[in-house]
Amino acid sequence: MAAVRLQSSIYDLDLPELTDWVTGWGEPAYRARQIWEGLYRHFYRSPEEFTSLPRSLRARLAEHLRFETLLPLKQLASSDGQTIKTLFQLHDDKAIEAVLMKYERRRTLCISTQAGCAMGCVFCATGQMGFKRHLSSGEIVAQVMYYARLLHQQNERVTNVVLMGMGEPFHNYENTMAAIDRLNHPEGYNFGARRFTLSTVGLAPLIRRFADEGRQANLAVSLHAVDDETRSQMMPINRKYPIAEVLDACRYYVAKTHRRISFEWALIHGVNDTPETAHKLAQLLKGLLCHVNAIPLNPTPNYRGRAADRQRAERFKNILEGAGIPCTIRMRRGIDIAAGCGQLAGQMIPSPAFA
Ligand code: SAH
Ligand code: SF4
Repeated sequence: MAAVRLQSSIYDLDLPELTDWVTGWGEPAYRARQIWEGLYRHFYRSPEEFTSLPRSLRARLAEHLRFETLLPLKQLASSDGQTIKTLFQLHDDKAIEAVLMKYERRRTLCISTQAGCAMGCVFCATGQMGFKRHLSSGEIVAQVMYYARLLHQQNERVTNVVLMGMGEPFHNYENTMAAIDRLNHPEGYNFGARRFTLSTVGLAPLIRRFADEGRQANLAVSLHAVDDETRSQMMPINRKYPIAEVLDACRYYVAKTHRRISFEWALIHGVNDTPETAHKLAQLLKGLLCHVNAIPLNPTPNYRGRAADRQRAERFKNILEGAGIPCTIRMRRGIDIAAGCGQLAGQMIPSPAFA
């Protein structure tokens, strides 16, 4: 029992669980709230910083709970300084990445939900590396806390969190939702549920579950193709959940929540950026409360496709918009440091000193 308890990261606990620990040590329950505020409002990262707690309680915290959840190994900034990517080592030496993107007043974090990914999309660097493991809820939370602390030191705050880093959030459904709930807690970080966006490869049953749970986070679905043959070649999961099934689940989501859904579309020259494809996509999405986020493909080591150029991207967008489907072409960000969509693979190899 003691061995298991020693392993717990403090960020893995919700407030009732933390209260159990604290009362189990014979301390009053309000101490748990103080710790919670210290973690999520003051961004303390070691027991010594909790100076309003009795020394004995700080010692208990240090003895039983792990504060160091993620070890930042390396940080890279893009040439314009607006994108920062951090490589973190996990306690079992796996690695993940998270990215901060500054754009005007927005401070958007792109965080990971798994080390690697089991879905194997051929155009994605995370898919190309395969699945290592799920992240715990605390490991997801700790990515946000890391950047929240960093921004706090500059008198800034995180404005948006997108779960579009490494991994498939719906494959790690429970931990992902627990992390969102923890970050959303009103007495803690209190980050608005509507400022989260989740992107899924299209796990249809979980899109339905997400809708049934009435969650407020925004939903994005990676579509990328209009016919099953093309989509299955790009995204093997399409053999299990083909396009019609994914779109049925999306319609269910919109009917149930009345919320707009975003479709992600990585524009690949000659593969999915043609006028025929755009027309077919408009037909497929007709009548659905949605929006298409098109992004020219980012380069990855093991995929030969290339990005649609600006002209082809504009043509694609114009066809969709002409048919009444709103479409934005997203800027490519952080490409020089491989921090763009689909480029995260923990490839900033740890130096031997840390490994
Ligand atoms: N697993 C989830 C979320 C992480 S990927 C998902 O697949 O939706 C985030 C987004 O980046 C997805 O829309 C994904 O399709 C897209 N993406 C992956 N590789 C890309 C690449 N090389 N260029 C552009 N977008 C890519
Ligand atoms: Fe996984 Fe998403 Fe990459 Fe596909 S695109 S391999 S689901 S991270």
